Amino acid sequence: MDLDWIINHLGEDRAQYFGAVAPPVMQSSIFTFPDVAAMRAAAAQEMDAAFYTRGSNPTVKILRRKLAALEGAEECLVFASGAAAIAAAVVALTRAGDHVVCVQKPYSWTRALLRDLLARFGVAHSFVDASAIDEVAAALQAQTRLIVLESPNSLTFEQQDLAAIAAIARPRGILTLCDNSHASPLNQSPLALGIDLVAHSATKYLNGHSDVVAGALCGRRALLQSVFQGPFMTLGAIPSPHDAALILRGLRTFKLRMQRIAETTPRVAAFLAAHPRVAKVWYPHLPDHPQQGLTQRQLRAPSGLVSFAIRDADVRVIERFCNALRRFLLAVSWGGYESLVCPLAAFLPPDAPLVPSSGRAPPELIRLSVGLEEPEVLIADLEQAFHACGEAG
Ligand SMILES: *Cc1c(COP(=O)(O)O)cnc(C)c1O
Repeated sequence: MDLDWIINHLGEDRAQYFGAVAPPVMQSSIFTFPDVAAMRAAAAQEMDAAFYTRGSNPTVKILRRKLAALEGAEECLVFASGAAAIAAAVVALTRAGDHVVCVQKPYSWTRALLRDLLARFGVAHSFVDASAIDEVAAALQAQTRLIVLESPNSLTFEQQDLAAIAAIARPRGILTLCDNSHASPLNQSPLALGIDLVAHSATKYLNGHSDVVAGALCGRRALLQSVFQGPFMTLGAIPSPHDAALILRGLRTFKLRMQRIAETTPRVAAFLAAHPRVAKVWYPHLPDHPQQGLTQRQLRAPSGLVSFAIRDADVRVIERFCNALRRFLLAVSWGGYESLVCPLAAFLPPDAPLVPSSGRAPPELIRLSVGLEEPEVLIADLEQAFHACGEAG
């Protein structure tokens, strides 16, 4: 199945919908049946049948089929958010007494899920530097049930060797989950490397238009059935059919958007790396990146996130820099058509010293999400902001 077929045709049984070219928004909570036998048959197939929209909905089903195919998975469930998808997976696969190994710097709410929520229900966890295979192996316990990965992660872009981790997990009966939001299914295929489940914040590249919050979980049918029977149906964090239709529309340009981002972002990263005001750049595709080998093996193309630190900056300099940008919007999240800037200093008081803390991204870090604008426009905007922000002190 080629990418264009998946994006434009898969799952769209147009003959059923008057030949509509754009997928219909099946904005209905319930579906009726000609007789009890048909109702009984649908009830027995709740994960797939048009029965009740908390379980399945035809518009959402089109999206599930496309996302499963993009990840090379048997099955996909779509959620109200990426956080809901990750939480549902971890809740479905663990019980009191189990232990979870997680990357050291996961997405902040993945950290909170393990540290604050699941700990209350007797699920223990260890955060490890999973870029070192030995540390992952050393963290495994008899009770370890799940390894939660995020490669690359979303602030400093550390990667994990997914095939190597899958190879130590599988023989021990430990499941692996990889958050693939950053690379997107276009640039990385964790399931093909032996990972059991892939999670996405569809809010980011899959939708790509900064107008929907949604998530997805892809993997083997049996695993997703246990997620469906458990937290998917009990917590009920489902997307609306309308949101699914918006993501389907966003997906139409997914390949083009990612190709454009893969051309522009390395130019922005190279500009930053060469700039005298820049102390450090985090970008897996720079030639001197410490994980360059893994980048070459695991990522098919660059994504649009690049982080950097301004030389000798304090919070005020970072603020002046970000306030001076005209094209990059100040906002969290990423993956839309517009370029964004997100300084971690926004999460600190204005007079706070920039003190590093272990297991966290450096507080002076500024993350850019490169959108679909001309690279020259973005680079010129960064240049004028460096001029405008002045020096520390
Ligand atoms: C945004 C994000 C999430 C959470 O997704 P939401 O759609 O915001 O709930 C999870 N993981 C990563 C890497 C993210 O960037």
